[in-house]
Amino acid sequence: MSAPASECLFCKIARKEIPAAVVYEDDTLLAFKDIFPQAPVHLLIIPKVHCEGLADMTPEAAAAAGRILQVSARLAADHGIQDSGWRLLSNCGADAGQSVFHLHFHLLGGKTLGGKLC
Ligand code: 5GP
Ligand code: ZN
Repeated sequence: MSAPASECLFCKIARKEIPAAVVYEDDTLLAFKDIFPQAPVHLLIIPKVHCEGLADMTPEAAAAAGRILQVSARLAADHGIQDSGWRLLSNCGADAGQSVFHLHFHLLGGKTLGGKLC
């Protein structure tokens, strides 16, 4: 069971109660640098509305997720990795290693990315 929105880490970041290195924001989304980067570019892109993850999407979260897919290419370009290549992924649940239960997408690039599973 995940934390309620009042206690959720990424809701707190979205409300600016916890600092983060924000690189993009609009009405529905926030993008910020991952605190433990796994690549030279490692951003987290979240809907501002709380939902646990891909298995728990409200229509509002799904709309925000669609927008994340659009915005990710622009963020990749802004961070100089559009041409070299990048990866967008969301971990869902225990086997995937999800550790924060607020829907988020990792945008990774700036090096050859290992761990390709499919
Ligand atoms: P997950 O493991 O759920 O797919 O991804 C959670 C990500 O959140 C991890 O990559 C982790 O480094 C990042 N993270 C955890 N706590 C914080 C924090 O307080 N600030 C930021 N910017 N990233 C965080
Ligand atoms: Zn949340």
